[in-house]
Amino acid sequence: MESALQNARWRAALAASSPRELGRQLALSRREFLRTAAGVALGGTLLGSNSLARAETSLRKRKVIVITFGGGARDQETFAPEGQENIPHLMRELIPQSTFFTQVVNRGILGHYVATASLATGVYETINNFASLPPEYPTVFEYFRKDLKRPSSDAWVVAPSNGFNRIGESNHRSYGAGLGARVILPKHLLTAAMRGGAADYEHLLRDNYETPFRAPELAGGEFELQQLEMILKLSVDDFKAHARTLSSPDELSVYIARQLMRQVAPSLLWITMHDIDVAHAGAYSLYVEGIRRTDRLCAELWKAVQSEPEYAGRTTLFILPDFGRDSDDDSAGNGFQHHRTGDALSRTTWMMALGAGVREGVVFDRATESTDLVPTLGAMLGFSPSLAQGKPITELL
Ligand SMILES: [Zn+2]
Repeated sequence: MESALQNARWRAALAASSPRELGRQLALSRREFLRTAAGVALGGTLLGSNSLARAETSLRKRKVIVITFGGGARDQETFAPEGQENIPHLMRELIPQSTFFTQVVNRGILGHYVATASLATGVYETINNFASLPPEYPTVFEYFRKDLKRPSSDAWVVAPSNGFNRIGESNHRSYGAGLGARVILPKHLLTAAMRGGAADYEHLLRDNYETPFRAPELAGGEFELQQLEMILKLSVDDFKAHARTLSSPDELSVYIARQLMRQVAPSLLWITMHDIDVAHAGAYSLYVEGIRRTDRLCAELWKAVQSEPEYAGRTTLFILPDFGRDSDDDSAGNGFQHHRTGDALSRTTWMMALGAGVREGVVFDRATESTDLVPTLGAMLGFSPSLAQGKPITELL
């Protein structure tokens, strides 16, 4: 009964007149979905003794992991009553421990590389989504490393496609070269490990779900096989054997990220996932499978945080999609399949934060922006993202 009411409210929200109103309605319906299913409270009302888990750890030891995923999912397949079965880990384990923002608006270009670059710089980047270019503005990794004088081993990106090989640092003249994050492209690593014989691993190497697209040729050197052994402490044979047990590129990414946590323990770790974007292929079942896998992998990473002594108790985890997907009602879009219209649904996404310093079980509906992430991380970790356009999210500070 209640879910029928929620659905009716949600449908009404979609009929809202302006994009701003639609975004607001979407946020309100998301909160309703969460309130009934995950038992979380409206922002600010839950301030019990246990809810304000201020980090006891010094800033020096504080760690942040950011999980973004390329190709968000619609509420129908996630937070709405009929979608909740696809995200059991988020709904039952992670969201109750989180501060959740129901309305994160992306006002930038809705392509995965450029949108991820915008998330990482705090500026709506306008670089060509399909070119091998660095972000124009300094990335969070550069601010972090320069201001806090951290070594290159302290900031890492695990990225889903070869097109992300430049995401680690900008070409800004005050930052840039040598100041960014080290980037691992697990597919590149696997290709190198296979030395051409990758027939058994094609399902892990699918690089992009959008056409037309040509992944830029990599010059090599982003991550040498030698580094596989020296940094990740993985032999080529072990890596190949483990890869054989994995079912998707994101599983490969999470495997690499866990290895990185264990062997290097970077303080700033950014993992971008991409399996959900298989939606572009038009197969609804694969899209839902991608959502379920992403849900499971997010929970696995959170578990890994608890089990790694370097991370347990001192890590804040952020989870957010780069943007959403089109609405069914827009004739220019195709529902779950694409994100080409720029309508309010494809722009209004969400974010959750959990762990050190973050209140548990609270939901905020006010509009925040994709560009607010970097200033928030700056305020949390004590660096100054001076060129970012967004604002720190005060509810997390
Ligand atoms: Zn896409």
